Amino acid sequence: MTHEAVTGAAGLTAEELTGGPLVVSSPIDGNELGRVAVHAEADVAAVVARSQAAFRQWRSVPAPRRGEFVRQLGEALRARKSALAELVSAECGKIRQEGLGEVQEMIDICDFAVGLSRQLYGLTLPSERPGHAMRELWHPMGTCGVITAFNFPVAVWSWNAALAFVCGNPVIWKPSEKTPLTALAVQKIVDEVATGFADAPEHLNQLLIGDAGVGAALVNHRDVPIISATGSTAMGRKVGPVVAGRFGRTILELGGNNGMIVAPSAELDLALRAIVFSAVGTAGQRCTSLRRIIVHEHVYESLLEQLKRVYADLSVGSPLEDGVLVGPLIDRQAFEAMQQALERAREEGGAVTGGERLLADAYPDGYYVRPAIVEMPAQTDVVMTETFAPILYCLKYASFDEALALHNAVPQGLSSCVFTTDVREAETFVSAVGSDCGIANVNIGPSGAEIGGAFGGEKETGGGRESGSDAWKAYMRRQTVTINYSDELPLAQGINFEV
Ligand code: NAD
Repeated sequence: MTHEAVTGAAGLTAEELTGGPLVVSSPIDGNELGRVAVHAEADVAAVVARSQAAFRQWRSVPAPRRGEFVRQLGEALRARKSALAELVSAECGKIRQEGLGEVQEMIDICDFAVGLSRQLYGLTLPSERPGHAMRELWHPMGTCGVITAFNFPVAVWSWNAALAFVCGNPVIWKPSEKTPLTALAVQKIVDEVATGFADAPEHLNQLLIGDAGVGAALVNHRDVPIISATGSTAMGRKVGPVVAGRFGRTILELGGNNGMIVAPSAELDLALRAIVFSAVGTAGQRCTSLRRIIVHEHVYESLLEQLKRVYADLSVGSPLEDGVLVGPLIDRQAFEAMQQALERAREEGGAVTGGERLLADAYPDGYYVRPAIVEMPAQTDVVMTETFAPILYCLKYASFDEALALHNAVPQGLSSCVFTTDVREAETFVSAVGSDCGIANVNIGPSGAEIGGAFGGEKETGGGRESGSDAWKAYMRRQTVTINYSDELPLAQGINFEV
């Protein structure tokens, strides 16, 4: 399928794909996919004003009816699944299976949100005063600004938007400047569903296409009470204080440095498969990608030998070809960052296998690499840093306490796992003294979370939670209500205040 066919199948018109200043290239071969229009920072105020108007209508639509809108959105996504997935692959370089998986996540979160729309429960609480009733209500909060990264160009929007919509909020979406086409395609689907849905206001979901500057203008705007920002820790370091400074709320989903402990009792076959999927899937460009393995000294040599064998045979190539498991890096900058990290790892005592550029003749403007295995003598600076590429650092341990200490010593805290059949180690890993991450798995790799759980991490990962469980509460404001149905006016704490 040509790039033109892909963009056409996703519903983008020739007009949308030409004439703008933002050049979008496919990481598959560097070919231009389109030139799209961008917003200026000065446009943000008008976009926010339109969103506020949408909010005034949407907040009064009953939540289950808002859920019905999201149900229809999920149906529309089901109908477009393969075309949208193909565009995801073309624009961000994911293999077909992962592109399809990404759109499936959008569908799953819509299903989740439909049920949620009838479960935005508050509590009833016993009042200490006679003839009084106390309860908690959850109300829509207002515009939710959603800033997304290139590597999940559509799913992250949906984790936020599906919840925001059922919670009564409109959305302003600032996608990565590297992946605006998938965002334009999704906006079309939302618009189409909204047009046929009488209760949906205009501008329920709006796009802001552009770079960090337009994102910063959104972050700065005092009429955007929620900013959900997904991207690097460097971005979160800028966004967090700005939103805090105006007393807004952030949901920060930032970088990870995800580890796996492989214990001597582990089923090495399972561990091996989990390592390969988590470390090389999406070419190491997932926030939950496996970046460190901490392996017991008794099984280290045999695991590394098998791992090197599998890595040597990995099929690297165009993500649109069947059988390929590793697609390209997003761009030249990502390739250079990978090479610099490998150079630094060598300087810090690491032994590197792989990491070289592949297929340069077939794709001079595509950046394909053999995923790298780096055996490190210690957890040095480069290991503590997230490099968004398929580099797997390998460390050895002797005692489980040592493994846990190494595991938790990095500044990031997104996803983690242990492979063990020892119940003490498994339970310790998920206990208060175990992994310090937002996600902790036993005998499962760190990537590929389900939408039913709350997703996010601690420390430099930002502390935000999105998607399932009670993550919806971050999109609403809590109101504590006390009603006096007596003919007295007793004060709390028994205070006597006679006038
Ligand atoms: P990035 O930080 O370069 O950009 C992310 C988004 O932030 C883009 O839309 C960008 O335009 C915007 N942005 C950058 N600076 C901004 C500012 N000052 N104000 C407002 N917006 C700004 O990240 P990327 O390269 O697109 O994605 C890779 C990074 O994202 C990795 O660090 C990865 O771990 C992280 N990530 C985290 C999660 C998670 O859920 N924790 C998910 C996906 C990606």
